[in-house]
Amino acid sequence: MSDMSATAERQNPPPQSGLEVLIVGAGFGGIAAAIELRRHGISDIKILERAPDLGGTWFYNSYPGAACDVPSHLYSFSFAQRLDWSRLCSVRSEIHDYLRDVARGQQIDRLIHTSNTVTSCSWDDASCRWTLTTEAGTVYEGDVLILATGQLHQPSQPRIEGAASFAGHTFHSAEWDHEYSLAGKRVAVVGTGASAVQFIPEIAAEVERLTVFQRTGNWFLPRKNRQYPAAVKAAIRLIPGVQAFRRKFMFQYCEAITVAIRHPRTVGRLVHARSSAFMRMQLKDPQLRRKAWPDYTFGCKRVLFSSAFLPALARENVELVSAPIERMTEDGIITAGGVRHELDCVIWATGFKTNDFMFPMEITGSDGRELREYWSAGAHAHLGMTIPGFPNLFVMYGPNTNTSGGSIIFYLEMQAAYIRQALHALRARRAGAIDVRPEVEAASDRALQARFAGTAWTQCDSWYRDEDGRIVANWPGYMREYRERTEHLVPSEYRFMPAPDRAPVIGSQR
Ligand code: NAP
Repeated sequence: MSDMSATAERQNPPPQSGLEVLIVGAGFGGIAAAIELRRHGISDIKILERAPDLGGTWFYNSYPGAACDVPSHLYSFSFAQRLDWSRLCSVRSEIHDYLRDVARGQQIDRLIHTSNTVTSCSWDDASCRWTLTTEAGTVYEGDVLILATGQLHQPSQPRIEGAASFAGHTFHSAEWDHEYSLAGKRVAVVGTGASAVQFIPEIAAEVERLTVFQRTGNWFLPRKNRQYPAAVKAAIRLIPGVQAFRRKFMFQYCEAITVAIRHPRTVGRLVHARSSAFMRMQLKDPQLRRKAWPDYTFGCKRVLFSSAFLPALARENVELVSAPIERMTEDGIITAGGVRHELDCVIWATGFKTNDFMFPMEITGSDGRELREYWSAGAHAHLGMTIPGFPNLFVMYGPNTNTSGGSIIFYLEMQAAYIRQALHALRARRAGAIDVRPEVEAASDRALQARFAGTAWTQCDSWYRDEDGRIVANWPGYMREYRERTEHLVPSEYRFMPAPDRAPVIGSQR
């Protein structure tokens, strides 16, 4: 296509017809779905995004040192491989720019309606349509709804007695206050998860005093993540096959982490020994080592990749506090035993409301069924995507599709392809709606939960579990297993409802 005709197409897009698809969320998931559907003739798509820009987690998490600890050759779309990553694990700005470039290159950016917070989604059996309402009162209608809001988008802040009385400054790591200077301040970080370990080494030298409140220690593996030397960059760019080999190698490396988590008594012990040796080398001070050491099975919580965090704890101006927080006062935090920590600023690195998924959005399905009620005993969905009684609804990065040892982009691509198959099955039958059979969803959930038996994930408390202890965040197996399960949609697992008079027809087939 010439530049001119491409420009003309951009200005005068082909008439939209057929299935109207509404996607909520313009992160990697929503963008993956839009690309996949458009490539297969479903082009009437709107992506509604709460933020003023695309990017999802990579828009919101702008804390210093924000990066991905999954190598970029794997943490990127299979169909949009880049040869010029600056380092093994890219920093936030590079990942955000990558996603923006992909969205622009695939002309997805113009489908995105930013600053649009969807508050409710309601299905109508008679018309086989979803109606979405936004905070501003705008109403959108569509045949298909894809919820691509993910698991990690609602900051969670603990309820601590006296927190409101604290006179200093506070913010969450996912809502970093770039206007506030930490220089020369007495700063607390509450939480030592994947986010905290990335920004603590960055701010430690800047602040006057840094007090790190740790509830549970973590298992670490090394990650230096320096810029690639010129020779490595050149090899990736110029030698055919290097890029593909790296991607395959990283895929297998990530699968090996899952082997360790799935087999804590055998392979898990080996990786545990590797992690222990690394941590012992990094934590020379026996008292600090004792405090930082985790007390649970390797791999039960997310293993953290950092060569900079533990040395940062050993700095003169940094203190690791493992005593529980009792309460807050006007001037700081009081820990068990009445120890007072005077502070100017508290940074909450306390993670996300992971069990809420797309809530607080209200989702109403067939016969007025409320998703909140349906999930009152914990979230579950067939392959993490389809929920009985919620026709033409697909969730991306839904229940039990998080990965502890893999790339979420891989799962999102699989999900996008599965949703495309579902919509094609819908069209092939000239049906109005596709709805997973309740017995299929129940059986797949039972089988999935059974796969956790004996794994490290079951051996401690973590954000992967809901209040009743059920693991609702993670996929219990390997990336390759998820591909096998989702590669071919099985139509008999679904009910197809007759179309109302207005039969849906997909764009290019008309
Ligand atoms: P997180 O892993 O959930 O960590 C939250 C931290 O806050 C934990 O140390 C937790 O302690 C602590 N905490 C929670 N409530 C607390 C309370 N009431 N009092 C004291 N401490 C409390 O959150 P995150 O670090 O933001 O990371 C969330 C997820 O985002 C990660 O697991 C990962 O999947 C993803 N992430 C990925 C990357 C990457 O590079 N790929 C980077 C950042 C984040 P406990 O351990 O005791 O619960």
